[in-house]
Amino acid sequence: MATSAEPRGLAVGEMRLASFDRQFAQQVRVQRPDRYRLLDALPADMPRIARGAGVSYVAASFGNEAVSLDMRGFQRLLAFDIRTGLLCVEAGASIGDVQRFLLPRGWYLPIAPGHPRATIGGCIAADVHGKNPARDGTFRALVEELQLHVPGRGLLSLDPHHDADLFAATCGGLGLTGTITRATLRLARPPRAIALRRVAVANLADGARVLREAANAHVLYGWHDGQAARFGSGVINVGLADDEAEPPRFDLSPARDLPATLAPLPLTVWNARGIALANRWLRRRWCQPGMTALALPAALFPLNDARWYFAGYGKAGLVELQWLIPHPRFEAFAAALAECVARTRPRIALLSSKLFDGRAQGLAFDGKGIALALHLAAPAAPAQHAFCEQFAQLALAHEGRPNLIKDSSLDASTLRAALPDFEVRRLALARYNADGRCRSELTRRLAL
Ligand SMILES: Cc1cc2nc3c(=O)[nH]c(=O)nc-3n(C[C@H](O)[C@H](O)[C@H](O)COP(=O)(O)OP(=O)(O)OC[C@H]3O[C@@H](n4cnc5c(N)ncnc54)[C@H](O)[C@@H]3O)c2cc1C
Repeated sequence: MATSAEPRGLAVGEMRLASFDRQFAQQVRVQRPDRYRLLDALPADMPRIARGAGVSYVAASFGNEAVSLDMRGFQRLLAFDIRTGLLCVEAGASIGDVQRFLLPRGWYLPIAPGHPRATIGGCIAADVHGKNPARDGTFRALVEELQLHVPGRGLLSLDPHHDADLFAATCGGLGLTGTITRATLRLARPPRAIALRRVAVANLADGARVLREAANAHVLYGWHDGQAARFGSGVINVGLADDEAEPPRFDLSPARDLPATLAPLPLTVWNARGIALANRWLRRRWCQPGMTALALPAALFPLNDARWYFAGYGKAGLVELQWLIPHPRFEAFAAALAECVARTRPRIALLSSKLFDGRAQGLAFDGKGIALALHLAAPAAPAQHAFCEQFAQLALAHEGRPNLIKDSSLDASTLRAALPDFEVRRLALARYNADGRCRSELTRRLAL
């Protein structure tokens, strides 16, 4: 999120950038190259970090020790093979624009994060997941080949067979291996529409059971009540392909995209009363059994209809905690979490669940288990802060793995405790950033 005039081309300008969750803001230097030769405009040893749309919850693409290279000037679709479903696209193109181009042509990116302004480069570097990671994997699964700019080495072409280690390190590498300039992506055929079935669940363990049974759905995630009295009850959304249905009408215009910058309300509405009202409303709306036909773009970007939701956190912002708990530990974790919530009564405005069935690579968020994401209002309040710490301790005790690109409350020692082989993974990445030239506030906080 930017707050002053943006520099273009060669110029390095100063501007104030803030993370999406509003937990970190800083005056930083920004360059916005708009042609390839400008990628070499900075002295090769100048600290830098690539930046996409800046819609990461955390400060991953800026920091006061580095120049942010805003890549949104590189947004062309370079080649598209409609027969084989291969798309070559520049790294600054947004996911929303790419989907808008593809859907009417009978293709789509099956893995897309919830924010349509996220860029292709940001999705590769954070190895994001989409609407059902257990079925589709994470974004690296779509990348056939990519081009990386490394100061002093120029533009490198990488794929899983050529420079495979650097390719693997770049996917989920948080911008530390260099700047991605373009990628060739493997597309999938979209369903005509999604038939969304809502399955009511009594608690998180019940939800996990439904998630596991529906592992092959196109869309699969749970919404749960985060309040102590009904903790974990909610609904699992199971979206199956419906190729018979007449697709529901949906406005594909870019104006519908959730803006990168959301003007916050002066104060948060997500106090205990606001959370209770919202939960009651969602329960009435969602927890009825039945089937709804959903247009695919609506399923891909459900938050476009909820911009008020983020604005409602006010200037204090929010913190998202997202941890992946392995299946054998999930039931015990869910019970311990319910007990902790009953005791401490945190203000959880949103609690959601997803199923994962991948292999954790590098520092990326993947593995086999159930991921829980919690949105906490007023994160600086002592009780909320204490809950974040207790949540992390519980997750650690149940062998959880945190999502680095989501959680501003995560610290270096918790991350080390969560990943027993952290140092091996960190060194595998640091090998390509030996002089620490690529750095951000996130890499400073987590000592990457
Ligand atoms: C409302 C909302 C919903 C979301 N939903 C999901 C979700 O469902 N699943 C999920 O996994 N994530 C989700 N996210 C997180 C988001 O998709 C990721 O943080 C994504 O990386 C943001 O992309 P960006 O272009 O804004 O990248 P930025 O925030 O600008 O940068 C993110 C990281 O990518 C690096 N990077 C960016 N561009 C390049 C490049 N060209 N070359 C090299 N490195 C680069 C940066 O250095 C940084 O480390 C969500 C975020 C929001 C706000």
